[in-house]
Amino acid sequence: MRAVVYQGPGDIRLEDVPEPVLVDAEDAIVKVTVASICGSDTHIVHGLLPKMEPGRIIGHEFAGVVSEVGSAVTKFKPGDRVVGAAAVWCGRCKACQRRMFSACERGATFGHGPLLGDLAGSQADYVRVPFADNVLQAVTAPDDQVIFAGDILPTGYSAVAGLVPGSRGVKAGDIVVVFGLGPVGLCSVASAKLFNPAKVIAVGNRAERLALAQRLGADVVIDAAATEDIRKALKAATDGWGADYIVEAVGKEESLENAIRAAAPGAVVSVVGAFQNPIKINAPRMQMRNVTVTMGMGDLGRMKELVDAIESGKLAVTPVVTHRMSFDDVIRAYEIFDKRLEGAIKILLTM
Ligand SMILES: [Zn+2]
Ligand SMILES: [Zn+2]
Repeated sequence: MRAVVYQGPGDIRLEDVPEPVLVDAEDAIVKVTVASICGSDTHIVHGLLPKMEPGRIIGHEFAGVVSEVGSAVTKFKPGDRVVGAAAVWCGRCKACQRRMFSACERGATFGHGPLLGDLAGSQADYVRVPFADNVLQAVTAPDDQVIFAGDILPTGYSAVAGLVPGSRGVKAGDIVVVFGLGPVGLCSVASAKLFNPAKVIAVGNRAERLALAQRLGADVVIDAAATEDIRKALKAATDGWGADYIVEAVGKEESLENAIRAAAPGAVVSVVGAFQNPIKINAPRMQMRNVTVTMGMGDLGRMKELVDAIESGKLAVTPVVTHRMSFDDVIRAYEIFDKRLEGAIKILLTM
């Protein structure tokens, strides 16, 4: 079968490799029909993921058709169409019982090498899926509508639904601000609308992404690159009160500072931007205004509610797809995605 294989920093190749086989009773083998490229894939290609080794298949965003199931898989049979989560979880350990699936003691992320469980990636014709009953979700809508339900959408959605189990999410009537209009931030904009907010304000710095945010439901967009004082602009857009709920999807100290500054008394700042290093945080402001900052990984256990929302027509993030390419052109697709050529946001690879 074909697979995208990491060879070392800056070097990936489309290679012919052996097909995966069932290993555990809870495994399924999925024939991938559509895959997509994520920012964390390019992070790996640049050699920035510790412990990554040559010869590993990368990729973690996929949809496809079940081709084989182990004896303990109860929800799926060959021929079922599915979307897969980016990572796997056992469903039984202490972390899983607390709905902290991202911290599962037997967890692993597809295509992230030995650091994250050494599970072969899904940019391949076939992928082995451990704990298939948890990790796969049955779908009826077309691949390009459901593929994001396993990674960027659960992250963007969890950011507005509440990142910590039991925590406050966006409430009806809230003024919501989303900082950062990458794929995750755009998914937060679309997801926020499900909670009937008073207003969604999107802050980004690329014209095509601001336009897309509007298409996905943003009521106000602020071009950070063309705005001298973002805090002032946000104050004006929130009637001087501030925002009730803020999503930080950039992962930079300056952006988190702006988010905390934009927070109304009692507001929540929900951080899904990926921080690489420790940062300073505005503790006095948080304390004086009872601002809660929550951070974390998206809840992959929300795939069913997300697929339901997509299939009932309430949620649509397919507009983030800017390119559709053949899997045979995957190396070129990586270049387009990585360098953001041709306004690339998300690239779908058809197998
Ligand atoms: Zn991803
Ligand atoms: Zn677990």
